[in-house]
Amino acid sequence: MNDNLKLAELLFPNITKTPADMEEMFPPRNLKEGARVTRLAPSPTGFLHFGNLFAGMVAYKTAKVTDGIFFVRVEDTDQKRKVEGAIEVMLKGLEAFDVVADEGVVGEDIEKGDYGPYYQSKRKDIYHVYAKQLVSEGLAYPCFCSAEELDEIRAQQENEPQKGYWGPYAKCRNLTLSDIEKNLAEGKQWTLRLRSPGDAEKKCFFDDMIKGKIEMPENVQDVVLLKSDGIPTYHFAHAVDDHLMRTTHVVRGDEWMSSCPIHLQLFKCLGFKVPKYAHVAPIMKEENGGKRKLSKRKDPEAAVTFYVEQGYPKESVNEYIMTLMNSNFEDWRKINKDADIDTFPFNLKKMSVSGALFDMVKLNDVSKNVISVMNAKKVYDYTVAWAKEYDKELYELLTRDEEFSVNILNIDREGPKPRKDIACFSEVKDYISYFFDEIYEKNYELPENLTKEAAAEILEAYLKEYTAADDKQGWFDRIKALCEPLGYTPNVKEYKKNPEAFKGHVGDVSTVIRIAVTGRRNTPDLWAIMSLLGEDKVKARLSVAMEFYKG
Ligand code: GLU
Repeated sequence: MNDNLKLAELLFPNITKTPADMEEMFPPRNLKEGARVTRLAPSPTGFLHFGNLFAGMVAYKTAKVTDGIFFVRVEDTDQKRKVEGAIEVMLKGLEAFDVVADEGVVGEDIEKGDYGPYYQSKRKDIYHVYAKQLVSEGLAYPCFCSAEELDEIRAQQENEPQKGYWGPYAKCRNLTLSDIEKNLAEGKQWTLRLRSPGDAEKKCFFDDMIKGKIEMPENVQDVVLLKSDGIPTYHFAHAVDDHLMRTTHVVRGDEWMSSCPIHLQLFKCLGFKVPKYAHVAPIMKEENGGKRKLSKRKDPEAAVTFYVEQGYPKESVNEYIMTLMNSNFEDWRKINKDADIDTFPFNLKKMSVSGALFDMVKLNDVSKNVISVMNAKKVYDYTVAWAKEYDKELYELLTRDEEFSVNILNIDREGPKPRKDIACFSEVKDYISYFFDEIYEKNYELPENLTKEAAAEILEAYLKEYTAADDKQGWFDRIKALCEPLGYTPNVKEYKKNPEAFKGHVGDVSTVIRIAVTGRRNTPDLWAIMSLLGEDKVKARLSVAMEFYKG
C-alpha cells in the first residue's frame, strides 16, 4: 500500500464506500435530450432576498423551458448561521411566486426525490467518500496549521501578489506520513486541503451562459475541502452535490464567479464533468444617479415578504421579474397579450450581464395592468385572502356581502379599457373606502373654480331630481338637464368657446355630485357607484354634503 492509500485509511477509516458506489447510487438521470437540471441552493438564513427569488426563478425557468428538473438543496453546513424556521420562510417565499421544486427539500425536513439527502448537513459520509479518494490519489492532504500559523503566513505575504495557502507557503503540503501520524497521535486538529495542481502562469476557461467566455488564471490555492469538524466547505460540497445530483446548469449569484478557477479544478480532480455555469448578476437600484445592489438593509423591497405583505399577486411579480430576466419579454408580451407567461421562451443568454435595475414604479405599472385584466371575482378572492392575513377590518367589510363587494370591484372592469387603479391588494381599502360608512372619510374640498354656494345650489337641485331608477343614460340626461337652469352648460365644447357665458359645464356639476357621494374628485363610473350604494345612502350623502356647503 502506498503512503497516499495509507493516509486515506488513516484519515477516513470508517468510509468503505467508493466513488463507483456513489455513481451507482446516483446514476445519470433519465431525461429527454436537452432537458436541464437546475437547482436553488440557499443557506437557511431565514431571509429570502428578492435576488434569491430572482435567481431561483432563473433556475426554475431554465429547467421548465426544457422539461427538466428544478430542485432545492439546503446548504446548511454553516451551523452557526442556522435560523429556526428558515426553511419554511424560504420555501413559502418561493411558493408564493410559483417557484415550486420538483425535487429536493420541499418542506421543513421533508425531502422528495432519488438524489438526496438534499440537506448538506446530512451528506457528510458522501463528502468523505470523495475526500478519501482525493487523499488516496495524492490530491488532498491534512493541514495542521493553527490560526496563528495562518496569520503568520498572511503577514509574510504582505507584499506578494499571490496570497493564500499555496505552493511555498503551504507548510503541511509535504508532511510525511510519519509526521502526520505523529500529529494525529498528539490529537492535533486538522483540516483537509486540496493539493492544487494549478499553475499561476496558465489560464482556465469556461463559457458562462450569461456572462459569455471567461478566462482567469488557474487556481494555485490549496483550498480547504473539509473543516476540522469534517464538514465540507462550499467549494467542495457544491462540486460533489452538483455532480451526484446531476445538475446540468449551475445557476447562482455572480459573487461566485471569482471562485470558478477553484471549482473547475475541483471538478477535474474529482473526475467529474464540469456543469454549465450561469452567473446571475445582482438586482440593482438607481441611487443618486448611480447604481447599487438592492440592499436588505436599505430597501424594504429587497425582502420577498414585502411583496406578500403588500399584496402583490404572484402574476404581477412574475410578470415583472420576467421583464428583469429577459430584455425581449416586453416585446413578446405586446404580441402575445393573453398568453400564459410559461409559454414565453425564456433564454439565459438574454439576461443582463451587469445587473437588471429594480424599479418600483415599473413594478406598480406592470401590476396595475395585470390586475386590471383579472375578473372581479378573482380580485375579490385575492384581496380577501390577503386581508384575512393583513387587514382584518377590510376582511370583515369585504366578506359581509360578497356580491356587493364583487360588484364594487367590477365597476369599469371587463371593458375594452379597464381602469388601472390597483397595484397591490393593500391599496384596495382606500380604493373602495367610500362604499363603507365605517371607513369612508368625508372630504368635501372643491376644485378652485367652484364655490361652496355653487356646490350647495347644485346639490339642492339634484336632490330634487335624483332617482335611483335611472339607467346610465337617464342618470346622465338628468344631470345635464340640471345645468341650464343653474347657469351651467351641458355642452363642454360650448363652454370652451365661450367660458364667460356660464358658471361652468356639466363636468363641474357632476364633480360636485361625485364629491358629495364619494368624497373624491376622481372615481370609476359614478352612476355604477351610486347604483351600488342605493337610494337611501346616496340621498343621505347628498344632503350631508349640501348642509356642509351651506355651512
Ligand atoms: N449556498 C450558496 C449561497 O447561498 C449557494 C450558491 C450556489 O447556488 O451554488 O450563496
